[in-house]
Amino acid sequence: MIKAHISEIKSLLKTPKNVVIVPHKSPDGDAMGSTLGLYHYLKMYNHNAKVIAPNDYPEFLKWLPGDEKVLIFETQAEECTELIEQADLIFTLDFNALHRAGNDYGKVLELATGTKIMIDHHQQPDDYAKYTYSDVSMSSTSEMVFNFIEMLGDGEKIDTTIATCLYVGIMTDTGSFRFLSTTSRTHQVIATLIDKGANNSEIHNNVYDTNSYGRLQLLGKALQNLQVIPEMRTAYITLSQAELDEFNFKKGDTEGFVNYALSLKGIIFAGIFIENTVESIIKISLRSKGAFSVNEFSRKHFNGGGHTNAAGGRSHTSLKSTIDNFISILPQYKEQLSQT
Ligand code: 5GP
Ligand code: MN
Repeated sequence: MIKAHISEIKSLLKTPKNVVIVPHKSPDGDAMGSTLGLYHYLKMYNHNAKVIAPNDYPEFLKWLPGDEKVLIFETQAEECTELIEQADLIFTLDFNALHRAGNDYGKVLELATGTKIMIDHHQQPDDYAKYTYSDVSMSSTSEMVFNFIEMLGDGEKIDTTIATCLYVGIMTDTGSFRFLSTTSRTHQVIATLIDKGANNSEIHNNVYDTNSYGRLQLLGKALQNLQVIPEMRTAYITLSQAELDEFNFKKGDTEGFVNYALSLKGIIFAGIFIENTVESIIKISLRSKGAFSVNEFSRKHFNGGGHTNAAGGRSHTSLKSTIDNFISILPQYKEQLSQT
């Protein structure tokens, strides 16, 4: 982010403002960690800050400091719309296009007159914000919020509460510090957050060791459904709505399942296809290793996007025809998939 913009934002933040902070739809650890981290920072300056999530998020994030203050657009649309219309400043975090907040929410944001500030690490960011801090090389938006607070000259102000939120975001988006996006700087930021009081072991436990029996049974089903296409170095998992129902599926239960497919020896492209009969869609998560871009793949074939090695999208046909389509597309990428 350029210095001139930082000093403009600094002067905007000098006096208390109405601020709305927005994570993307179906918020994950980075979306909630970065928005709540920024929320606690702004609260120190007595801003009237609100985190307004598009919809609900998984139980394993519900212990985060400030969780009880989060508003949900989907269920509190009127109150949230009013807050957005009255906002002087609107921070959009961890997404690159307004529709990623959902169609209705996206429209309200588009019409809102408050000054927009984007902080995000996804590829091809839209140009809707007055101030854009976009860096696709970053491990997570939470690492960027750390940088943002530092750039504002307030690194010293990061306390245990902020540190805990940002730690969650960095930990979850880096697969516990193992993905390619994890740099020595990421580890330096993490070390600082631990020094500020983030309890790394407890945080890990809260996020990853709170499985329900149903979730583990569902994982068993997902692994049984795993299919491999060795000549394309591809593996994929399907879960039908009936299978989700059988194991009492709750939001967030399938988080991380796709990584099991990617962990197979020799596999560099993995996907999970999850049926959602309420929304009449198949939600797709794609992962890759090396240069093969699932962002490009998802944009081109499944109305989605994300990062080079992690992206998502959706299909509006049945689970079976989505899979048939996926398999029929693969030969176009045979060369890339055998090279990488
Ligand atoms: P996940 O597969 O965990 O849902 O998402 C992986 C990455 O892709 C995340 O960074 C997420 O923000 C992004 N992503 C997931 N679904 C979509 C989508 O439908 N559209 C776009 N543009 N990005 C997505
Ligand atoms: Mn992220």
